[in-house]
Order: sequence, then structure tokens, then C-alpha cells
Amino acid sequence: MTQLYDRVALIGLGLIASSMFWAMKRAGLAGEVTGFARSAETRATAREIGLCDRVCDTMAQAVEGADLVVLCVPVGVMGAVAAELGPLLKPGATVTDVGSVKADVIAQVGPHIPENVHFIPAHPLAGTEHSGPRSGFAELFDNRWCLLVPADGTDPSATARLRELWEGLGANVEEMDAEHHDLVLAVTSHAPHLIAYTMVGVADDLRRVTDSEVIKYSAAGFRDFTRIAASDPTMWRDVFLTNKDATLEILGRFTEELFALQRAIRQGDGEHLHAYFTRTRAIRRGIIQAGQDTDAPDFGRGGGRAK
Ligand code: NAP
Repeated sequence: MTQLYDRVALIGLGLIASSMFWAMKRAGLAGEVTGFARSAETRATAREIGLCDRVCDTMAQAVEGADLVVLCVPVGVMGAVAAELGPLLKPGATVTDVGSVKADVIAQVGPHIPENVHFIPAHPLAGTEHSGPRSGFAELFDNRWCLLVPADGTDPSATARLRELWEGLGANVEEMDAEHHDLVLAVTSHAPHLIAYTMVGVADDLRRVTDSEVIKYSAAGFRDFTRIAASDPTMWRDVFLTNKDATLEILGRFTEELFALQRAIRQGDGEHLHAYFTRTRAIRRGIIQAGQDTDAPDFGRGGGRAK
């Protein structure tokens, strides 16, 4: 594959940055990759496992001379990180991010990016419930979507190169505007995470079902909520604080539908329930047909047996 950038700097060395590094190496997309994380512990781990060609102790060292700078930190600190690195950027460089929310990140980061630097926000729609430098793997983005959110007037060749990078990392790429991105993600990711957190929280509160029963019989459905609800608390706190409007809108719709289902159950309205579940089943089929999940029984976990 072609080398697209001579020097790439990864700021933040968690799940997404480490997966990007391994996937860049797999495809030979970058010359030297530098990395920086705020804690000495994470930097030491990165050095130990060979994550990045060079792990730097300061952001300035990591960013110096970089052609591409990727912000891989929680969305709540994107602005502070951009303020620090803005003055250090090489003219003609590209800054991108991988944050799960776009409008707020653009508002935080945009003002700190100099005129002679391209800023092209991005969001890979791929993740796991694990975090930190050891959690990444080269295949994370394979056949997943990455959404680019370039502002009007962004240099098309800079956007095209970033698109090529994400395609080289295994992703399918589409462009979208920031507000629409935040609404789509509120439906497909943010609200579902909140619902999973709530469901697991509710089970935790139930005293009529013992803790050991909840764990023992979790394969009946609860287990899939617990996987999502194990996601990083800092990342998800920041997602809800920064994608407030879209998430609240979707949760409002969710609550209305939940009440309608609650009423159908109370009134014994089987027709309503059956029609609703038929519609949701079709959505699941669509996701499988689009290659975004497997139709192996129990999500490919081995015939429904709990692991
Ligand atoms: P992660 O595994 O928790 O890693 C976050 C990294 O950011 C850590 O290396 C952390 O350093 C560093 N960091 C935190 N605050 C910092 C600061 N103030 N200055 C410098 N570094 C700082 O997170 P992740 O899952 O890779 O997520 C990173 C970004 O990707 C987030 O914006 C998230 O919204 C987005 N994203 C996540 C997923 C997902 O499923 N996880 C999917 C798509 C996009 P220390 O280790 O030293 O604390």
C-alpha cells in the first residue's frame, strides 16, 4: 500500500489510537508514528508493547513536524488539547479527531487551528467496551464506517488523503455534516448506550432477584446490555454532556414508545406488540444484510451457551 503521511502523531493512546496504529502498520500507510498520552503509566505501557514508533513525553515532541495529527482523547478535553497543540502545528499539516460527537468538538477545536492547517473532523463507527493502550487491534475498523465531517471550503485534496487513510485502515468512508452526524449517532449509539446503562442499573437495584441469579441467568438478554454498560465511564459521560440536544430528542421519542408498549402490555394488546416486534425484526435483518453484524445464533457466541 502507499504511504500517505510521512509523520503521524497520535494524541491519546487508548483503544482507537492503538487500533489506528496497528492498522496503519498493517497497511504501511505512515512513515513514522509518534504517540503521546497524559499519564506516564500509559506511555510506559505503549513503549513496552511497541505501540508507536516513538512515544513522546510531551505533546510538543509528538506533534513536531507531523503531517497528520489525530486527536484520540475523550471529547470533553478535545478543546484543551487543541489549545496546547495549535501553536505547534506544521504549516500544511492536517488535524483530525476520532471523537464520538462532532458539532461540539468542532466548536471546541476549530478556534485553535491556525489558518494554514487543515482541520477535518472524523468519527470511526467501531469500538469495543475495552479501553486503554492494550485494547487496540488492527482489524477494529475493517468493514466499519468512518464518517468525515469537513467544513465547507476545506481543501479537497486534504480530505481525499484522509479518506484514503481510513480506507487503508479497512473502513468504508462517507461524508456528513456535523448536526446530522450527531442525530444519527444519538439514534444508533448514544441513546442505546444510555438505555443499556439504565437496564443494568435497574437490575443492580432489584432486590427480589439476587445478584448471583442476575449473573447466572444473564444469557437470556441481560448479558448483551452488560457488555455495552461496561464501556468507559469518562468517554460516555463526555458523549452525553456534548451531544445533549440530539440525545434528549431521541430519549424523548424512546420514552413515548416505551409508554405505548407499557400500555399495550397492561391492556393485553397483543396485536400492537406483535406488529412492533415484527418491525424491529426487519431492522435487525437489514443490519445483517448490510454486513454490520453476524446472524450466527446468540451473536456468534456459540449456540446460546453463556461464556
Ligand atoms: P481510551 O481507550 O479511554 O483512551 C483515551 C486516551 O486519551 C488515553 O490514552 C488517555 O490518556 C488520553 N487522554 C485523556 N485525557 C487526556 C488529556 N487531557 N490529554 C492527553 N491525553 C488524554 O479512549 P478511546 O476509546 O480510544 O476513545 C478516544 C476517542 O475516540 C473518544 O473521543 C471517543 O469518543 C472516540 N471513540 C471511541 C469509540 C469506542 O468505542 N471506544 C469509538 C469511536 C470513537 P491516559 O491513558 O494517560 O489517561
